[in-house]
Amino acid sequence: MKMIVTGGCGFIGSHFVRLALSKGAWVTNVDALTYAGIKENLSDCEDHPHYRFSHTDIRQMDDLKNVFEKQENVDVLVHFAAESHVDRSLTQPSDFVSTNVLGTANLLCLSKWKGVKRFVHVSTDEVYGSLAEGEPSFDEQSPLLPNNPYSASKASADLLLLANIKSFRFPGIIVRCSNNFGPFQFPEKLIPRMLCKCMLGEGLPVYGNGKNMRDWIYVEDQCRGIWSAIEHGRLGQIYNFGGNMEKRNIEVVEALKAFFPETCSKMEFVTDRPGHDWRYSMSSEKARKELDWKPSISFERGLEMTVDWYVNNSDWWRKHFPG
Ligand code: NAD
Repeated sequence: MKMIVTGGCGFIGSHFVRLALSKGAWVTNVDALTYAGIKENLSDCEDHPHYRFSHTDIRQMDDLKNVFEKQENVDVLVHFAAESHVDRSLTQPSDFVSTNVLGTANLLCLSKWKGVKRFVHVSTDEVYGSLAEGEPSFDEQSPLLPNNPYSASKASADLLLLANIKSFRFPGIIVRCSNNFGPFQFPEKLIPRMLCKCMLGEGLPVYGNGKNMRDWIYVEDQCRGIWSAIEHGRLGQIYNFGGNMEKRNIEVVEALKAFFPETCSKMEFVTDRPGHDWRYSMSSEKARKELDWKPSISFERGLEMTVDWYVNNSDWWRKHFPG
């Protein structure tokens, strides 16, 4: 299988590239190496005969066209590349529009031209907006009601893909993921940031009252899900991948603190993020039924593996930790 993966030097993308190579795929990884794209995340793959890296920005149509021209054919394109941090989107929304919307439009255009056989767009539960306590989980039919520039840009990309499916019978699939965690996650996101702060003995800043809820999924379960969508997903469909592990932010931070009883300091409740969504929760019934997928790693086991990795890779996080 010949594959283009965008954003393969980021968190989920790097796990996915490793999985794809282990399955025998040929992978061209297209990545602009932004602050979140770390080439060394795939240093173990650099000499793999099926792996090629292309330092390319998906916003630059001419450069991107060169990448497509060099490929003989493309069986699958998996699109991870994005600006992915909600906090940054509140202050730098145009970066999110240019990469997440315009970059996706460029990829769609070139994929049509090249005749890519399957385009898998990696989206998020955030496009559905926020749920109140006790409301039923979102499913694939739920309306798109994004509340921040990040989720608005991801919803826009989803709509562009759906429009291409409708207009051109474009062979697209959307996978919507809940909050991933695991090794190689850039230490600005909740779990790795708190983990680094625990190791440094710094205070743990938690937004608002810390009771917001997120559904967590271990990154390897997520990548298996994306792989199953490539193999068995029906073209034109949307699949939600939730971990079925809803936690309040304070529960997550408490669980992390327990690993560092000696160095870890206290939670500090800080001014809430503007428009902070209260709760995300998605039903993965469709993926379970159609793709025979279900998450296999518990929150506790996943957290143990994540903590282990950060403890053993302090050079990595010390280099990238923004504080
Ligand atoms: P990440 O921020 O860790 O990595 C993003 C990658 O995209 C980086 O390698 C970066 O260099 C690359 N990139 C950014 N702009 C680019 C551009 N203009 N051209 C080429 N490459 C560019 O992100 P992640 O957490 O691995 O998320 C991957 C995808 O999954 C994103 O589309 C994100 O919206 C989605 N997603 C993530 C989560 C999560 O919990 N991490 C949850 C749901 C959905």
